[in-house]
Amino acid sequence: MMKGVELRASSPGTLGEAPVCPALKKACAVETQAPVVTPPRAPRKKKRFVMPESTPRVPFAQATQADRQSLIQIRTFVEESKEELTYNGGGDVRLGLDGTVSFSDLTMEMVPLALGMATDARQKARLLELRTDWPGGADPLMPEASYVRLVKSGEIDRRIAELEKIRAKDEFGIFRRAGNRPLAIGGYNLNVGEEREISGTQGSGTVYFSGCSMKCSFCQYNDIAQRKGGVEHSVNDLARVMLDLQERGAHNIQLMTPSHYVVEVVKALKIAAEQGLRIPLVYNTGGMEDLRALEQLEGIVDVYLPDMKFGTDEAGLRYGRVEGYVENTQAAIREMFRQVGNLKVDDRQVATKGVMVRHLIMPDDVAKARPIAQFLASVSKDLAVSVLDQWTPTHLAYQTPEINRKLTEKEIDRAVRVFRTAGLHVDGPGR
Ligand code: SF4
Repeated sequence: MMKGVELRASSPGTLGEAPVCPALKKACAVETQAPVVTPPRAPRKKKRFVMPESTPRVPFAQATQADRQSLIQIRTFVEESKEELTYNGGGDVRLGLDGTVSFSDLTMEMVPLALGMATDARQKARLLELRTDWPGGADPLMPEASYVRLVKSGEIDRRIAELEKIRAKDEFGIFRRAGNRPLAIGGYNLNVGEEREISGTQGSGTVYFSGCSMKCSFCQYNDIAQRKGGVEHSVNDLARVMLDLQERGAHNIQLMTPSHYVVEVVKALKIAAEQGLRIPLVYNTGGMEDLRALEQLEGIVDVYLPDMKFGTDEAGLRYGRVEGYVENTQAAIREMFRQVGNLKVDDRQVATKGVMVRHLIMPDDVAKARPIAQFLASVSKDLAVSVLDQWTPTHLAYQTPEINRKLTEKEIDRAVRVFRTAGLHVDGPGR
């Protein structure tokens, strides 16, 4: 699982006017006949502004000069919802000492601020196509997700029963490595910083789960993924989050690091679908999967968004602290591809089905891009591949000298070339 990516320019979406929700129309019609009763005022959501924050993610004394150039951060607001279900409307703005501005974890709420700060024409073009004016209600142009049929037929119950057995067996150690914790959620939001195909013009409704079956030394989400951040919630809460994101206009529900909560995810999906959830599910993972659980997701997940982080097991062990990364991840990606195939997009270039694989370029090519590119090309030359140049030595990366620095332009160009030489149409970083 990778963090939100750099904003890239692309053609504007072709969204029509959002229709008025039929339920809302009905409520209005009733209201005109009944005496007007002023509803109790909903509790105001708290907005906490904390800016600027200058705490670097790498201890400043150990950061290289290049790191220091982008360590000044502004963390915007966090909007706290009721009942500890945190809607995180924030993100980071990074101000380079050279005058560049970059954004990460950008959410829809932050777009007006980002627009005022953007220095790059491509950033601005991308920000301008985002629908900050969405009036509320589900995206009417997104086709109905495949899980709806499974819920209607009752097949989803059989899948849940199978997944429970698979979790109890834990053949691949995925659940054990993630700590076998009860469902915990680190937050949710309308994420506009992902690839254009995922965030579209209305944002990807993203749920951040606590814990992860990997332990990457450079994890950008280590506070949630590795330090047990987040709050315990029921599957009903998760279903509510999914429905809330759909109501905010999200193109999809994106599950960040969901593999160890697959049982709870499918249970929540069933509850939410029975109450009207219908947008596609995006399964965003670090690549290590319980392959039996993955088989049970056929017809449930519409879009798979796995990382292929490492091209050798040695790299997987050193930087991801997992054994057998290559064999497991290759098998997982082949299974995902079998289920949903190449990426399909709608008229707005928003993903409706398929696989997109991400690879984060690391310094000195320690991740070994060539075997990754060759493997992905063997799956399909038309596979959607997103090569990311957002490497930052976060978390414990400063302890490993060879990765404790920024990427050079040369390294980025070389990595993109490796994927293109393998025959893939790489959706590279700004290239
Ligand atoms: S530990 Fe690795 S796979 Fe897990 S969230 Fe962090 S970077 Fe992603």
